[in-house]
Amino acid sequence: MKVEFNKLSIGNNELSNLRSAMDGSPLQGGGRFLSQCEIRIAQITKANNVLLTTSGTSSLDICAYLCNIKAGDEVIVPAYTFVSSVNAFVSRGAKPVFCDVVPDTLNIDVDMLANLITPRTKVIVVVHYAGVACDMDKIMTLAKAKNILVVEDSAQAFNAYYKGVHLGTIGQLGAISFHSTKNVIAGEGGALLVNSQNLISRANYIREKGTNRVDFVNGKIDKYTWVDYGGNFIPSELTAAFLSAQLERVDTLTKHRVSAWNYYAENLKELESTGKLSLCKIPSYACSNGHIFYVYTNSEQTTMALKSYLQENGIVALSHYTPLHKCPMALKLSGGELPVLPVTEKMASSMLRLPMYADITKTEQDYVCEKIVNFFDKL
Ligand SMILES: *Cc1c(COP(=O)(O)O)cnc(C)c1O
Repeated sequence: MKVEFNKLSIGNNELSNLRSAMDGSPLQGGGRFLSQCEIRIAQITKANNVLLTTSGTSSLDICAYLCNIKAGDEVIVPAYTFVSSVNAFVSRGAKPVFCDVVPDTLNIDVDMLANLITPRTKVIVVVHYAGVACDMDKIMTLAKAKNILVVEDSAQAFNAYYKGVHLGTIGQLGAISFHSTKNVIAGEGGALLVNSQNLISRANYIREKGTNRVDFVNGKIDKYTWVDYGGNFIPSELTAAFLSAQLERVDTLTKHRVSAWNYYAENLKELESTGKLSLCKIPSYACSNGHIFYVYTNSEQTTMALKSYLQENGIVALSHYTPLHKCPMALKLSGGELPVLPVTEKMASSMLRLPMYADITKTEQDYVCEKIVNFFDKL
């Protein structure tokens, strides 16, 4: 049997929506499918303001503009995340300050975070890894006490919640991704959740190349002009048309992933009780979207051997990020001075993500679990 790591789940309406987008109307950003998507995302997230963007990365780029980063400002980020969580801010002149994560969730270590705050800390970027919420009450309390902005990298967290509140709507800003590897997809695509009312007009300007075109479209001015920094962060109608069909299926997509997540947890818990394998966890305050299921062992060698054994049996299981603080760019920025972040470093080499997609079957999951059990039997 072969079990891929990921398979796209595309329904019946993606193609018909694309056809309908092509019927006559212009395909640039700002059409009816874009509004449809923004309205639907606002219903799901309960965010006050939703801007569809070209990617999770461009949503984070807009966040960095909105945070008014100045040279010397510090931005605290977990070291175990995708480059975009930090690069948006670094590209606007911020100094990255890397924080360790906790093994159960791979989310930011809040105790360490508290110790990294300085008078220069401008922004805390939290990442809800695997669609599992960070401890937002603690993080918001720390940030409010020091007037620090909180940006939620919710790229993996669409339709995932903290104490019933959608992720990305708790800090000042939230970034969502609809990249092909996420739960709900547009190929490339994203959304920016603007939770602070005073940031919304600038967010619109920045998304539209630094112009006040939004005011022109809304009939407030006769002619639009250059008013801010910006880029081209608005997706085409083709992207929005495809995404709109995906958004109709969000409940099904999430439900299937969450039951697949629970099925792994149930089937591997006996192995965990023997102490040979550890499983990812969901804290009681979090309601996840089943984006990732990962396991980890006590050593890099065991994990690498498990990965090869699964590969030999047709199963693709993958590690994830290179710790950011050890990347060439981080070394260049820091002048070679490396923080030591033991959990990030250990987990990077000892975790494996198991195959996960909405349409994964119980037969496929049984096969994956059986092979994992076989591997440890033979050790
Ligand atoms: C996917 C992802 C991004 C980037 O999103 P894109 O849409 O691919 O630009 C950023 N941060 C995290 C944590 C991600 O998983």
